[in-house]
Amino acid sequence: MSIATLADILEIPGFYKDANCVGENQDLFFPDRGGSTVKAKAICKDCDVREECLEFAVERKERFGIWGGKSERERRAIRRERRQKQEKKS
Ligand code: SF4
Repeated sequence: MSIATLADILEIPGFYKDANCVGENQDLFFPDRGGSTVKAKAICKDCDVREECLEFAVERKERFGIWGGKSERERRAIRRERRQKQEKKS
C-alpha cells in the first residue's frame, strides 16, 4: 500500500516542482480568449519539464491554458495527428 503525497491529493503533477513557471504570474498561462500567449510560451521554451508538461496536458485533454509551450488548439492538433497515425497502423 502506498501513501499519497500532498501533490497527488492536490493533483499537482510531480514535474511541477522543476517547472519554469513556478512563481510566475499564472494568468500568463491562462489568458482570456484572444489574449497573448507569447510570454507564457517564452517561459515554457527553456523549461526542463516541457515534454512531461505537454504530455500531461495532451493525455488529460486539458482544455485550457498553455502547457508545454502549446495552446489548446495546438494540443488538439497533436492528438489528431496521433489518432491519424494510429488509424493508419490499424
Ligand atoms: S512547460 Fe511551461 S507550463 Fe509546463 S511546467 Fe514548464 S513552464 Fe510550466
